[in-house]
Amino acid sequence: MSIDMTQPPIIVWMRRDLRLHDHTALFEASRSGRPVIPVFICDETVQALGAAPKWRLEQGLSCFAHSLEEAGSRLTLRLGNAAIVLDRLIEETGATDVYWQRAYDPERVAQDTRIKADLTTRGIHARSFSGAVLHEPMQIKTGQGGDYKVYSAFRRAVWQRPIVPAMLAKPDLTAPETWPDSDRLADWGLGRGMKRGGAIVAQHTLVGEKAALDRLSEFLESRLAGYAGDRDVPAQPATSRLSAHLTLGEISVARCWTLAWQALETGNPGAETFLKELLWREFAGYLLWHSPHMGTEVWRPDWQGFHWNEDRHDPKFIAWTQGRTGVELVDAGMREMYVTGVMHNRVRMIVASYLTKHLRMHWRLGQDWFAECLTDWDVASNAMGWQWVAGCGPDASPYFRVFNPQTQQVKFDGKGAYINHWLAEHRGTSAHKDALSYFEAIPESWNLSPEAAYPAPIVSLAEGRTAALAAYDDWKSQK
Ligand code: FAD
Repeated sequence: MSIDMTQPPIIVWMRRDLRLHDHTALFEASRSGRPVIPVFICDETVQALGAAPKWRLEQGLSCFAHSLEEAGSRLTLRLGNAAIVLDRLIEETGATDVYWQRAYDPERVAQDTRIKADLTTRGIHARSFSGAVLHEPMQIKTGQGGDYKVYSAFRRAVWQRPIVPAMLAKPDLTAPETWPDSDRLADWGLGRGMKRGGAIVAQHTLVGEKAALDRLSEFLESRLAGYAGDRDVPAQPATSRLSAHLTLGEISVARCWTLAWQALETGNPGAETFLKELLWREFAGYLLWHSPHMGTEVWRPDWQGFHWNEDRHDPKFIAWTQGRTGVELVDAGMREMYVTGVMHNRVRMIVASYLTKHLRMHWRLGQDWFAECLTDWDVASNAMGWQWVAGCGPDASPYFRVFNPQTQQVKFDGKGAYINHWLAEHRGTSAHKDALSYFEAIPESWNLSPEAAYPAPIVSLAEGRTAALAAYDDWKSQK
């Protein structure tokens, strides 16, 4: 490859793909031999993020900027509307090409379409690539040409299908003769919403591509074999903990898939289950692309009109957000999320079922709270998860399947290791440091202390279940 510094540069617009390996847009730009200008734009989609995802993005951007510097490149940061910022950069740098990797949520699909059309009209070479998924949603169709609505059928359709993006080496990035001006990341204040919590969540958070690659290797070598058996036990570090890295694109799903598939071929007993979980992520993105309303409206139209309580100020909802429902497994999960930025998958299902069924609060309230608190927040997986549990989503768990937190606790946390890790009340000096750190992370205005008594259940589990089923029967009988 010859490097020609007299050629106009290529702008690579980075979004949720903060990595150097397996990055088709960066790879293709570098292959051209022309100077490459990686850019991140803090636009309205970034500003609309919840506190924890925004904080995590700041960490990811800082780390990615450092990786680029090590690779002899630089991350240019700009604030504003993406179309306007790209226009200005094209003018300032003389770039004739803009590359990026595609996203599949409705806002960014609309943004991409507009920007691509606009750039193309003005003679700028706009190229977008696949990279965030294994199979692009528009490629996967049923035998009749429709879209899949059931996970198992979708999974069968893609299981043996060659994946679209390949694993790619780190690109050789040529610097332009002069770099455009960049904002300072700290001036964007992305971590501002995590006032007290940021320092605590940081203790539980690994950031960046190298951490993600190490985590994947460590998981495949040490924990994949036990994954199928242990992944439902919340006190066990049995899962990959890759979700936030995948959400920010610090690792490619193509790499996770390819290496896990190799493990499947060598007979690793956990590989099949892990691959199937990666396909749940894939299915979520697929569903959102085909049903852009999934994050805002019930996915199943027959669920319009079901009565959920939508009052964010309802004391029951507030107790749920604060981990003070008096149901130990639910409270432990809500506190795990507040302290670490993530929550175990089984516990996510349990707290979601409790909110939407025992408390009959709207799934959107829970979805919004997760969007505020999860560092792995992903619009598609979050929406699918909530609608699946609430009963109104595609291929959903039926509404009458009400998770019983007590039975779940006996089954998956029989010795109480998880609840003892996350609840401090009545445990005195034996309270775990993570359980105590919850009280340092929460806003002072919540006025909670580990010395206070643990609350009695705000709703009896038996009564909550009966009332949920009665509401369901009532609604069905009126249809
Ligand atoms: P592992 O068990 O190691 O799985 C590997 C990867 O597969 C995960 O990192 C994730 O990318 C994917 N995956 C696994 N399970 C699921 C699933 N059920 N749905 C979609 N993808 C899955 N996941 C998010 O990444 N972001 C969210 O905002 C999110 N919100 C959720 C909300 C609810 C109500 C529920 C029930 C689930 C939600 N999930 C979400 C899915 C799941 O809980 C997390 O992906 C998982 O707990 C992450 O831990 P891990 O990386 O150790 O997963």
